[in-house]
Amino acid sequence: MFGYEDLLKEVDIFCRHGVETGTIGESELKERIPYIFVGKKNGYCMIVQGAMHAREHLTALLVVCLAKYLVKNSHLPIDGGIYFVPMTNPDGVRLCQEGVGFIADKQRKSNLLAINGGSDFALWKANADGVDLNVNFDAKWGTGKQNGYYKSPCNYIGRAPFSAAETRALKEFTERLKPIVTLSYHLKGEQVYWEFGQTSHRRYRDRRYAESISKYTGYPLVTLDGSVGGYKDWCIEHLKIPAFTIEVGNDTFEHPFPYSELRHILQQNLDLPRRLLNTVVRDVQRVDAAGLGRLYK
Ligand SMILES: [Zn+2]
Repeated sequence: MFGYEDLLKEVDIFCRHGVETGTIGESELKERIPYIFVGKKNGYCMIVQGAMHAREHLTALLVVCLAKYLVKNSHLPIDGGIYFVPMTNPDGVRLCQEGVGFIADKQRKSNLLAINGGSDFALWKANADGVDLNVNFDAKWGTGKQNGYYKSPCNYIGRAPFSAAETRALKEFTERLKPIVTLSYHLKGEQVYWEFGQTSHRRYRDRRYAESISKYTGYPLVTLDGSVGGYKDWCIEHLKIPAFTIEVGNDTFEHPFPYSELRHILQQNLDLPRRLLNTVVRDVQRVDAAGLGRLYK
């Protein structure tokens, strides 16, 4: 399994190889949420994030591997920069992998055990406060079909949009960097989600990118009714940029998902971030050159 300590070690290795690293902010338990930057500064950028859901920690290792691939293959042209955020939910991942042993606060510990209904957190998705981060973003918040209104291992929307430290951190990081596209890795199902009510040219544009992702990965496009409050949803609705959720991993496997599948998942996604960023950058530049205004902002 790939844990939070493993991530910190990997980030340190990137750093020692001269790769820019940093943190997007802190988790509920005040742990830093690291990023790894690959590509050119001062140009257009992209955010690729993983492990927003605790039990999907394999996606953290996937995102680290995607960053490593680009560092090792520095001859491949990147028309901008990519911020890789491998583990948006470090507390949740720790909880999932270690149980409550690492949590100092006794009250929190007993609350979490009660919410979980036992000491095995292997299927936990939320953060250390029982909030499901991918329904805590301000995008039709609280109107989803599966939304929960109490702290839970999954689906609890939180007290308000961005009530969780992790979603606030990712929101502020995203607003500061103004990416032109974002990619979120989840587990499982081998599907691509791209839609959140965008209309006219944005709908056409985002569908086209989604089709290219589908072609590259081999995963079909899916439109979900009643799924709201996610990072991708917020990027589409508020930032008006193309944003995608990719569910990696074959559905025939159960959670906890086998790490032996990582090799296969990597093959399907290895050069996707760079290709997607380059495609979007080319389109943005074409629009700018044609004097059509900033369609992407
Ligand atoms: Zn997920």
